[in-house]
Amino acid sequence: MLMQHQSEKAKTDILKFLPQLRPDVEYKEHVIRLPFLNSPFFSHKGRPLVSKALREAGLTTLGGVCGRGGDCLFFDKNKTLTGLKRAGGVFKTKQILDLGMSITQGVEKSWRTLTSRGMLMQDDAVKFLLYQGAKSTSLPQIKTKVIYDILIQKLIKRPAAELRWAAIFPTKTVTSIWCNLAIPFLSHAVFNTDFKLRHRRYYSSIVLHQIHKLKFQRLCPVCGLEDEDFEHLILRCGALSGFKTYVCQFLKTGCGATAAQLAEWDWVWLFGLLRQGRGGITMQVNTLLSFARHAAVLRRNYALFENKKVNVKELFKNLLKAHTAACLQGGSVH
Ligand SMILES: [Zn+2]
Repeated sequence: MLMQHQSEKAKTDILKFLPQLRPDVEYKEHVIRLPFLNSPFFSHKGRPLVSKALREAGLTTLGGVCGRGGDCLFFDKNKTLTGLKRAGGVFKTKQILDLGMSITQGVEKSWRTLTSRGMLMQDDAVKFLLYQGAKSTSLPQIKTKVIYDILIQKLIKRPAAELRWAAIFPTKTVTSIWCNLAIPFLSHAVFNTDFKLRHRRYYSSIVLHQIHKLKFQRLCPVCGLEDEDFEHLILRCGALSGFKTYVCQFLKTGCGATAAQLAEWDWVWLFGLLRQGRGGITMQVNTLLSFARHAAVLRRNYALFENKKVNVKELFKNLLKAHTAACLQGGSVH
């Protein structure tokens, strides 16, 4: 039962992800052979048609439940109910009639002109075509790779934050911001800050004010001079500029980062350096930057939620000290 349910789900998933896949329907004989359960061409209140009773009675194609009046193909109530009674299953007449209405509407919408063409073909099995733009290919001729490529395109969505970052840094390849996210040995809290920053998941004061006007002001809780949007929070706040300069200097003198490496400082401050080859200073620089951003966010959160003023440089140094101590402790234990 579970297997059947899973295979039904897989079928509807594939139909959902492959709207380009359509039956090659030319004649009425093709139409009456079409299945209507879980088909994207038939729906009731926006959902695919499902009926255990019809399935068990073997009434799953349009031919099984439709009658032909003149040129039209329509749901035949008497034929369907007689078929269901003969099969001996349990069913609710109203549900079947609702479903029937959706079937008639589906046929009308998709194949009205074709159902009047009743020419009987010798080979009247329904074939499927895959539409890619204007081009269509018969399903047996499609290579598996093409199907996988389409599924991948449908399933993988670009993170919403990337679009915003791309607008701020138009010359940079924003997909690279995910490359150096997972730095070894960093605490979960530090990783979490970076993860949320890259996904732009911090509520700025402007947003918080919209949510709770009495509790939050739009004004930046740190500098108190400008409204705090997301970029202000981590990039543009006046109270952050001195600290950013200090960190930049620290990376040059402490790690040997070159001026060229730090040239696009706002970008590096947010996303670090891309690793080039083995060794080098990339890991060191990125680790320090993660702590610096974490300190900046902590300082802002202290000001916002606890009304506390904290020296961000001291906070940064303390975080580094605690990290170094933890690493040394870890080293001596193992
Ligand atoms: Zn500010």
